[in-house]
Amino acid sequence: MNLTDVVLEEGKVIHRQEDIAITSFDFPFGSFPITKKHPLTLTIENKGKKVLGIQGSITLNVMIPCARCLDDVPTKLVLDFEKEVDMKQTEEERLEALDESDFLNGYNLDVDKLVYGEALTNWPSRVLCKEDCKGLCKVCGQNLNRGTCDCDSTDLDPRMAKIRDIFSNFKEV
Ligand SMILES: [Zn+2]
Ligand SMILES: [Zn+2]
Repeated sequence: MNLTDVVLEEGKVIHRQEDIAITSFDFPFGSFPITKKHPLTLTIENKGKKVLGIQGSITLNVMIPCARCLDDVPTKLVLDFEKEVDMKQTEEERLEALDESDFLNGYNLDVDKLVYGEALTNWPSRVLCKEDCKGLCKVCGQNLNRGTCDCDSTDLDPRMAKIRDIFSNFKEV
């Protein structure tokens, strides 16, 4: 998406709908297929002195494995964001300021990179197929939502799993 018009005219506001081309989010911690996507809605405003306000919103469906049993969970991802970019800065300065993948190349905005960066920043930290997912047997790997196994199951009470989750959430903070 070319931004030349809006960069050159102070006060100019443009509204656009852009389709994204990516079909999955390939992050360092995993790859997540996008199963449904709506266009990215963008409002870009020239706030003067070559500073652009970028407002965007997109709704996507992605497949994320359940944190306990690893089954794919269709997950709705709603990204709403607002940012400012100073087009006077060099690409290097901008990268530092935004602290994320650079979605600007000269006066071109790469909507795929923009959405990728937003998804990475707002990625759900923990997705469960259901609140009381029993997870996998730690001994044999059996999915305990679908059946039981003969392993020692003293530690597999779903309430215990919940407590473990609380602890691991604390650790992440
Ligand atoms: Zn699960
Ligand atoms: Zn087992």
